[in-house]
Amino acid sequence: MSEGIFKTVKLRVEGMTCTNCALGISRALQNEGFHKVDADFAGGEVSFEVADENIVPLAKKRIESLGYRVTDVTDQVVKEKKGLSPIEKKFWFSAIFTVPLILAMFIPVDFLHNDIFQLILTIPVFIVGFFHFGRSAWYSIRSGVTNMDVLIFLGSTAAFIYSLIGTVYRLGHDYMFYETSASIITIVLLGNMLEHRSVKKTTGAIDDLVKLQRNLARRLITEMHEGGESVEEIDAALVEKGDRVLVNTGDKIPVDGEIYWGTASVDESLLSGESLPVEKQKGDKVVGGTVLVSGTIKVKTTATGKETVLSQIIELVRNAQKDKPKLQNLADKISMIFVPAVVVLALLTITYWFFGTDLPFRDSLMRGIAVLVIACPCALGLAIPTAVVVGLGRSAKTGILIKGGSSIDKLSSVDTVVFDKTGTLTTGKFSIKNLECFNHPEESVRRILYSLEKHSSHPIAKAITGYFKGAGEISFSEVGEQKGMGVSATGADGNVYVAGSYNVASHLTGDDSHNVYLLMNDRLIAWLDLEDEIKPGARQLISTLKKKGIKTVLLSGDRKQRCESIAGELGIEEVYYEKLPGEKLEVIDSLGVDSKVAMIGDGINDAPALTRAFIGVSMSDATQVAVKSAEVILLKGDLGLLEKAFGTARTTVRTVKENLFWAFFYNVSAIPLAMAGLLTPIVAAFAMAVSDVIVVLNSLRLKRRRLR
Ligand code: ADP
Ligand code: MG
Repeated sequence: MSEGIFKTVKLRVEGMTCTNCALGISRALQNEGFHKVDADFAGGEVSFEVADENIVPLAKKRIESLGYRVTDVTDQVVKEKKGLSPIEKKFWFSAIFTVPLILAMFIPVDFLHNDIFQLILTIPVFIVGFFHFGRSAWYSIRSGVTNMDVLIFLGSTAAFIYSLIGTVYRLGHDYMFYETSASIITIVLLGNMLEHRSVKKTTGAIDDLVKLQRNLARRLITEMHEGGESVEEIDAALVEKGDRVLVNTGDKIPVDGEIYWGTASVDESLLSGESLPVEKQKGDKVVGGTVLVSGTIKVKTTATGKETVLSQIIELVRNAQKDKPKLQNLADKISMIFVPAVVVLALLTITYWFFGTDLPFRDSLMRGIAVLVIACPCALGLAIPTAVVVGLGRSAKTGILIKGGSSIDKLSSVDTVVFDKTGTLTTGKFSIKNLECFNHPEESVRRILYSLEKHSSHPIAKAITGYFKGAGEISFSEVGEQKGMGVSATGADGNVYVAGSYNVASHLTGDDSHNVYLLMNDRLIAWLDLEDEIKPGARQLISTLKKKGIKTVLLSGDRKQRCESIAGELGIEEVYYEKLPGEKLEVIDSLGVDSKVAMIGDGINDAPALTRAFIGVSMSDATQVAVKSAEVILLKGDLGLLEKAFGTARTTVRTVKENLFWAFFYNVSAIPLAMAGLLTPIVAAFAMAVSDVIVVLNSLRLKRRRLR
C-alpha cells in the first residue's frame, strides 16, 4: 500500500456498555489492520484512520459481527429516537415475568410454587438474557477481552439448567432456582438500563453544544445599495465563507463572522458562562451559537463548518472524553484479568464446597454462581469515564475547556503557578499616559507608530493602533516583529524604524522607565508611557492559591519596576522580569525541575511557554480560542475561572478515587463473602446493580458538588 494521506473516520456505535466492550472493538479493528483505533464507550463512538475510504464498510461489518450496531457516521445529525430503547424494552419484558417468581418467595400460594408454572415464566426471560448476555459474552471471548457479561451469562445459565434438570426428573423443590436465573437477568438488565441513561446524562454537555449548531440563517442575497434588500432563509450549514448574513433580535447567530453593519448586545453565556450580554459593533467578531439579545446586525461570514469556534469546542470536548487519565490504564488492565480470575474462583468455590464439605451440589453451585455475579467488574469500568465526563461537562458549561482526563489529572496536582503579566493578571487594555517626542514632529511619530504596530497582535500594539487611528500610514518595504521586544521596519524611502522595549534603546539612553521606545535610523525620536490595570479578582486568586500551598510566580518581559510593584500589590512570591521569550522558557524549565508548573498566559504571544510547562492554561475571549498551545482554555479573561478550573480538577480526581473505591474495593471484598456462602445469587445480583448505581450517582453528584 502506498503511503497515502490518512483520514479519520468516526462511527457511531450502539451497544457498547462498558470499557471492555470498547477494548474488544479496538482489538478487533487493530487485528484487521486499522490504524489509530479509538473506541469510546461513554460517547458511543469509534474512530480510526484509513487511507482509502472504501474500506470503511469493512470496519462497520467487523463491529457489527461483534454484536454492536453501527448507526451512522457521527458528523451527520443523529436523530433523537422516541420511545423505549432496546435495553429498556428487554428490561420491562423480563420484569413482567420475573415479578411473580420473586413474589413466590414471599407469598404462600400454591400455584406460584408449581415448578412447571415457574418454568413457563422463566423461559421468556432466559431467552432474552441468553441472547443479550450470551452474544456479548461470546464475542468478548472471541475478541480476547472477556467482559462482565461472561459472568452474568454463566451464572444465569447454570441456575436455569440446574432447575430444568430438577423439573425433568421431578427432583422436588430443592432443585428450583428459576427465580435466581430470572432475577439475575432482570436485575442486571435494570443496572444496564440505569447505566445507559446516566451515561447519556453525563454526555449531555456535548449534546447541548451540538444543538447550538443546528440553526437557520438569513442569508442576504442583495442589499439596499444593490437595488433592494433580499433575504433567503437557509440551513446554517449551507452558508459559505464570505456570505453576508442578517441577524435580528432573538436570533441565534448562525455563523462565525465579523459585524459590518449595526450594533447589538450578544449573550455569549453558552460559550463562556458569562451571563451579562456583551456589546458589539461594527468590526467586532461574533461566534456562531450565541444569541442576539437586542439589536440587528449584518455579519460577514469568516468561518463555517469545522472551522467555527463552536465546532472546535465540540471537537475538543469530544476528544477530551477519550483522553484517559493515567488511572484508567490501571482500571482497564484490572478488568481484563478480573473476569477469567473470577471464573476460576467460582469453579474453585463449587469444587471446594462439594468435595471438601458435605454441602449438597445444589448449594455448592449456588455459591459459585454468587461469586460470578458479585464479581462483575462493571462498576469498575464506569468509575473513571463517568466522573471525567461530568467534570469536563461541568467545566465546559462555565467556560473552561479542558483537553481531557489526563489534563484533569495534571491540573489537580499542580504546585506552582506561573503568571504571564500582560493580559493575564492585567487587563491588557492599555491607555496611553504620555507620548514624548525628540526633535521630530508628533504627527510623524504617530504615523510611524500606527504603521509599525499594525503588524503586531501584542496588546500594546492594539492599544497604539486604536489610539493613533487616522494618523495616516507610511509604506514599508519590510516589516518584522520580534516577540517580547518590538517591531521593526524599513520604509519604502530607506528609513529604518524600530519600536520596542528598553532593550532596543539601551545604547541610546539611560532612562529605562518607559514602555515603548521609538527609533528612526538608530536615533531615539520618541518614547511612550502606557498603563494597564490589574484585573479584578487577581489579589483574591493569589491569596487562595497560597492558602492551598501553591507557589505563585510572575514571569514577564516588562520592566523591573512595574513587575515588582504588581507582584508586591498582589502578594506574588517570586518575580522574573525583562525576560525575552527564550529566557521565559528557561525559567519554566528550571522551575519545572522539582515542581509541577502550570503556566497561565493569554495564549496569543506566549504559546511556547504554555506548551513547555507541565500544563498550560490560556485565557482569552471566545472569539479567539487558542486551542492548540494550551491544555486548558478559559473562554474569558476572568481570573475567577482559573480558581474554578483547579477546583473542578481536584474535585473530579477526588470523585474518581471514591468511585474506584466503591467499585473495586466493594467487588473484591464481596467475593470472599460469596465464596463463604454468605451471599445468595439474587442478593449478589442486586448488590452488583447497587454498586453500579452508587458509582454513577457519585459521578453525577460532581455536577453540583462544592469545589475544593
Ligand atoms: P509580558 O511578559 O508582560 O506579556 P512581553 O514579553 O509580551 O510582555 O513584552 C515585553 C515588552 O516588550 C513590552 O513591555 C514592550 O515594552 C515590548 N514590546 C513587545 N511587543 C511590542 C510591540 N509590538 N510594540 C512595542 N513594544 C513591544
Ligand atoms: Mg504576554
